[in-house]
Amino acid sequence: ATPTAVMVGTGVGASHGVLLKSGQALESAHKVNCVVFDKTGTLTMGKPTVVGTKLLMDISLPDFYKLVAATEVNSEHPLGKAMVEHAKTLVETQFWPEAHDFEAITGHGVKAMVCKKSIVIGNNSLMQQCNIEIPREASNYMDESQKLGQTAVLVSVDKDVVGVIAVSDPVKPEASGIISILRRMGLKSLMVTGDSMVTANAVAKEVKTDFVVAEAKPEDKARKVGELQKEGFIVAMVGDGINDSPALAVADVGVAIGAGSDIAIEAANVVLMRSSLEGVITAIDLSRKTFNRIK
Ligand code: ADP
Ligand code: MG
Repeated sequence: ATPTAVMVGTGVGASHGVLLKSGQALESAHKVNCVVFDKTGTLTMGKPTVVGTKLLMDISLPDFYKLVAATEVNSEHPLGKAMVEHAKTLVETQFWPEAHDFEAITGHGVKAMVCKKSIVIGNNSLMQQCNIEIPREASNYMDESQKLGQTAVLVSVDKDVVGVIAVSDPVKPEASGIISILRRMGLKSLMVTGDSMVTANAVAKEVKTDFVVAEAKPEDKARKVGELQKEGFIVAMVGDGINDSPALAVADVGVAIGAGSDIAIEAANVVLMRSSLEGVITAIDLSRKTFNRIK
């Protein structure tokens, strides 16, 4: 392609809200034959809400959420924000206790001391790490909600699991359509997420990606992209979070959701200024038109 063609292509992208940071980004996109999507905030809206609470001990719902809110108010994670928003509907913030020794365990959950009690909120593996036993009732409830594609979070107080919170983050309306277009264009699609296997499978079934990788930490996401490249795939990674930035950086084309974290935007070479996943198709189409036609 001539420099002029590349400039025109980049401009057309911009007019569609697809920011190609370089001519190289536009060039690489037409070779892509595999697209890896993050789940939360990429395939899903990224605005989770609490849809259910299961209490396992003798504690009132407001008292339970006071402990949860005091802990999660310190968290940057969308799941934490969802729990805090829900707590506001049950207890006025002036009645929330204070948390001490807050600690975020990336990809697993949070810990803090509230009212002299040790609070741990997060997934199965965090409970295991803290030697907290998960009662059958809790795992049953988790299973039910995860099968619906929801994220189930365990809440423990002084090593007892006292409740489970089900959080729902709906899939973006265009997600499954975009994945079926990619398939017709001859591209493979994968979903990678830090969430549980059951939740990941439920969402993957809804959007119909070819493969799923669950319980992936940021470095696992990047490693997966590297493995696909070793198998000979030219990989585009689409993500919105800090936890996606290592994978965005190693991918042949890193695509960040414009509404996502600054660190993801920095690591990517394509930015979708509109949150719609349509931009992925736009970028590949534009690249194919620019680099296949004029050689
Ligand atoms: P994703 O790739 O879906 O964005 P993360 O790697 O951020 O997921 O988190 C993985 C899992 O860790 C979540 O599904 C949740 O179970 C747990 N987790 C993370 N942060 C929190 C938090 N602030 N409160 C409770 N659980 C959390
Ligand atoms: Mg995400």
